[in-house]
Amino acid sequence: MRSLLLAVVVAAPSLAQTPAMTNSQTAQPIVLHADRIIDGRGKVISGGSVTVLGAKISKVDASSAGTATYDLKGLTLLPGLIDAHSHLSWYFNRKGRYHTRGDGDSTAQEMLSMAGNAYTTLMSGVTTIQSPGSTEDKDLREWIALGQIPGPRVLTSLGPISSPRLTPDSMRAIVRRRKAEGADVIKIFASASIRDNGAQTLTDEQLQAVCGEAKAQGMRTMVHAHSAESIKASVLAGCDQIEHGVYATDEVLKLMADRGVYFDPQVCLVFRNYLDNRAKFEGIGNYNEAGFAAMEKAIPLATAMFTRAIHTPGLKVIFGTDAVAGAHGRNVEELVCRVEAGKQSPMDAITSATSLGAEALHLGGQIGSIAPGFEADLIAVQGDPTKDITALRRVMFVMKGGRVYKNEK
Ligand SMILES: [Zn+2]
Repeated sequence: MRSLLLAVVVAAPSLAQTPAMTNSQTAQPIVLHADRIIDGRGKVISGGSVTVLGAKISKVDASSAGTATYDLKGLTLLPGLIDAHSHLSWYFNRKGRYHTRGDGDSTAQEMLSMAGNAYTTLMSGVTTIQSPGSTEDKDLREWIALGQIPGPRVLTSLGPISSPRLTPDSMRAIVRRRKAEGADVIKIFASASIRDNGAQTLTDEQLQAVCGEAKAQGMRTMVHAHSAESIKASVLAGCDQIEHGVYATDEVLKLMADRGVYFDPQVCLVFRNYLDNRAKFEGIGNYNEAGFAAMEKAIPLATAMFTRAIHTPGLKVIFGTDAVAGAHGRNVEELVCRVEAGKQSPMDAITSATSLGAEALHLGGQIGSIAPGFEADLIAVQGDPTKDITALRRVMFVMKGGRVYKNEK
């Protein structure tokens, strides 16, 4: 990093993870000027300035009179991006293979790779991720929240619920245990992988047990579901967010819209990343000839489905990449595909990754918007992403919770 700047004047309190710090009383205001500000809710302010006090945005001005602490001329300021589905624990080991338990890496080495993924993700402009789950997420979440290592805010399920052999009662018990362990969300596999046809794997009764208990415990649920029947069963069971949905029909897209369920499909990054890194995955589990053929076939299906999804009235389509080994730090490629191949408007793509994504995480009043009182999660990109979405590849400035992590302006 040419001019990586770790500001030490302000600490970075985490979101509902550590007690709020009182630095807003002592911190000096930080003033940012930019060519334009995208507020994350579909509005653009030409010129303008944002004032940050401590960890929060204190003021948004239409004019940029006065002195800037950071003059981001030529850049567009927008809220830090929110990726609703990222696996920071996935990486390639030193033999150039997808890391699996038993490949010889120690837990410390796993953690270092995770920290590396977190850093790369943050530098690419993603300031919050939701992890569908690995137990290591808990420490990663805490160390990032403490400001000891750089990374996005982490929300995690700590581990998915997937086995069809579990009884509904034992599934309810797992939900309660996850909550006690500090999970932010419950992740469920309702269908097989796209490499194994994507058919429903849990019964309606099992889905009702998990999503019903989660609701009773005040927890959100995110569900891996590809087939239309698995999506329908999950929505009817009261689950909150559906992942992937390659085989979603118009009927289930409408059902999700009617029930206010968030939908997180993927258009390309996850598939292309697997295909581009085929040799690193091949031969492990279902990463075989048939699996790769299924993923190749899924790209046009997923793209067409995505286009139907964004044209489904009222359907809340959010941004999640399903970033695995090889994809960390390239998260915005999914937004580029959504616009270029999936025909989403650049502004809608940005909103899906900011205010709408925050709403899905139940953090709609805290992150994802540039407005007074919100966390100062701000990024600046070269150019205007509402005209050219690839501007998101050129992240020059990253602030999270009022702390500057990248400044290459
Ligand atoms: Zn995933």
